[in-house]
Amino acid sequence: MGLLALGTALEWPEAKLRANQVREWGIKQLLEIWNKAKGKERDALLWGDEVEYLVVTYSEDEPKVLLSLRQAEILTALAADKELAEAGCVPALQDELPAGKPTGKPSKPSKVTLPVFHPEFGRFMLEATPGKPWGIGLKELLGVEPDMKLRRKIAKEHMLSTEYPITLTTFPQIGVPGQFTYPFYPPSGPKLRSQFVPDEIANPHIRFPTLAANIRSRRTRKVQVNVPIFHDKNTPNPWKDPTVNYDLHNWPEDDDVRNGAAPDNFIHMDAMAFGMGSCCLQITFQAKNIVEGRELYDQLSPLGPIMLALTAATPVYKGFLAGTDVRWNQISRAVDCRTPEELGEKPLKNDRWRIPKSRYASNSTYISTNPRLRPEYLDPDLVIDPDIKAKLIEGGMDDRLATHFAHLFIRDPIVIFEEDLQELDLTKTDHFENIQSTNWQHMRFKPPPADNNIGWRVEFRSMEIQVTDFENAAFSVFMVLVTRAILSFDLNFYIPIKKVDENMERAHNIDAVLKDKFYFRKNPFPPRPSRANTAFGDDSRPGSAMPSRPGSPGSLPVEEEYEEMTINEIINGSVDGDFPGLIPIVESYLDSVNVDVQTRCELATYLSLISKRASGELDTAARWIRNFIDTHPNYKHDSVVDDTITHDLIGSVVAIGERESEGKGFAGLDIPGFSKFLGKFRSNGRAVSGQAENAPEAGL
Ligand code: ADP
Ligand code: MG
Ligand code: MG
Ligand code: MG
Ligand code: MG
Ligand code: MG
Repeated sequence: MGLLALGTALEWPEAKLRANQVREWGIKQLLEIWNKAKGKERDALLWGDEVEYLVVTYSEDEPKVLLSLRQAEILTALAADKELAEAGCVPALQDELPAGKPTGKPSKPSKVTLPVFHPEFGRFMLEATPGKPWGIGLKELLGVEPDMKLRRKIAKEHMLSTEYPITLTTFPQIGVPGQFTYPFYPPSGPKLRSQFVPDEIANPHIRFPTLAANIRSRRTRKVQVNVPIFHDKNTPNPWKDPTVNYDLHNWPEDDDVRNGAAPDNFIHMDAMAFGMGSCCLQITFQAKNIVEGRELYDQLSPLGPIMLALTAATPVYKGFLAGTDVRWNQISRAVDCRTPEELGEKPLKNDRWRIPKSRYASNSTYISTNPRLRPEYLDPDLVIDPDIKAKLIEGGMDDRLATHFAHLFIRDPIVIFEEDLQELDLTKTDHFENIQSTNWQHMRFKPPPADNNIGWRVEFRSMEIQVTDFENAAFSVFMVLVTRAILSFDLNFYIPIKKVDENMERAHNIDAVLKDKFYFRKNPFPPRPSRANTAFGDDSRPGSAMPSRPGSPGSLPVEEEYEEMTINEIINGSVDGDFPGLIPIVESYLDSVNVDVQTRCELATYLSLISKRASGELDTAARWIRNFIDTHPNYKHDSVVDDTITHDLIGSVVAIGERESEGKGFAGLDIPGFSKFLGKFRSNGRAVSGQAENAPEAGL
């Protein structure tokens, strides 16, 4: 989440009255950054990942697994250790690092930068980032997985012995009747007014409960996070969520379910925690200048839904198997602050416009200055604030970027601190960030902060967190390599934004990675004038020094530039050779730069994981979890994921994590479905180098 200011948070009706002031000041701050940083050049190509964890309490002979709400205590313990680290009490070698504990004697100056831990919305969550961003060197990519393992190890060592940081996207039993948190709190607090989760489930910092309460107030009812139930052979049809209580009368919002908030065949959830309590894997790239940043924003955008489907890991909600595989729409609904007028349920009277998407949604803009961005790609339904746009243009910003920010600024700021409205500070970006950081689109274009020399950055936000650090490193590294290939080969992935939206919906389907097709651009290579109008020749295949294909942008009708492809085709290439595939493109990029053999082999292990997930040779986490549940003796094929199943699933996740952290490898782990998920993949905790079976298929 964004920065945590302290102060008096305004309740909704008051906050609403100050919204225009925040927007106006936010725009002034943005123009200040724009004018200061638009000409910045030669920033380093840096990048960094964010890994989010659930904290659970688990022990083999305790039948119930609980979400631990000890985020604050854990972060306090970590912070205490960071002080020790800064005092030099960190051994020189990463491998010897005793998980942030004091060594008793200061060691020689360390090369290790300790990871940084951050709070998150859920009081059962943690986020960890590398201590400093990664640089451009390909060898540095091999540091990612050990760093992720170090983060998990440090986190674990600051927890109780029964607590574990796990990287499942969601806790399968969040919101089930009875106890699911430690400590226990009963549901129905004044902020969330949920009938399933207590207010104490949110980070108690005033920003978070206020965010939830003001979203609820703005909507005039609770959020409605409905996920289709997965209909198994013994699941009633129609299915009614048996956990919904229609007889509560504590809050006005208890009427929601009596007014139809919980339709048949949907798992009904009613609080921000059901969405923002999900864990994801995000990657932020720094571009060398704003032009490159805008280009990357656009080119990575069509990959968002593809990577969402490929990382699918979210098949269970509130103790039931869901009819979807990913978290995205649930988060979108969990923070959907739109009023009935904005949603189109009532005629516009008090609100300014109808808004087609939640503030958490797939991207609605392309922002590059590249002429190959055709107007037909843009969203015809884009809503912008024309006054904001006029101010940005008057301030010197170009039309396209002004449009982007004038779109983000149609939203109200949700959390406003009284103290921040006294006077405008142009050396800060707080008002700008207020709107910017509560527009949760699948890409985020991050301007430099006011107070230091960071550059223009782009964040890729759609991926689901993976069970192991090996996988999280693999997906991070893959995205870095794709980004390098985009820049190096000037790749063009443009398709109309509406098609990206459609892909985002498709990514939710069960096993979308194997069963669905996604709109994707047929020819990602830039035009090669010398070969114009010739047939697609062999030398344009990956493996040649520089992939390229004839044809010039704009020569085809837009609808002919893309087609529906499977994720296997997008990642590994199409059988007929029409589409080269992202992995062969990455291989081609690696061929074009100097990489030592060991680095190349370790990267190959990562690419192999991605390749096999795309082809179906390996299961996604969502598929593995579904199979695990399906074959569990307690499962009655009625879509119910009970305490015992949850216990055994989390137990398996914990066991996988322990194997990984011990570096012992997964061999012999007796977990149902594991060999098709990860088991055969690696023989130990580090990358297996030089094994033919692990090398990505050549020549695809
Ligand atoms: P947010 O939660 O707002 O997205 P975080 O600070 O949690 O931001 O994480 C941002 C990521 O960006 C981290 O992995 C961090 O290492 C990385 N990062 C920090 N500075 C830069 C930079 N200049 N360029 C690229 N990445 C950076
Ligand atoms: Mg986060
Ligand atoms: Mg973060
Ligand atoms: Mg954040
Ligand atoms: Mg982030
Ligand atoms: Mg074809």
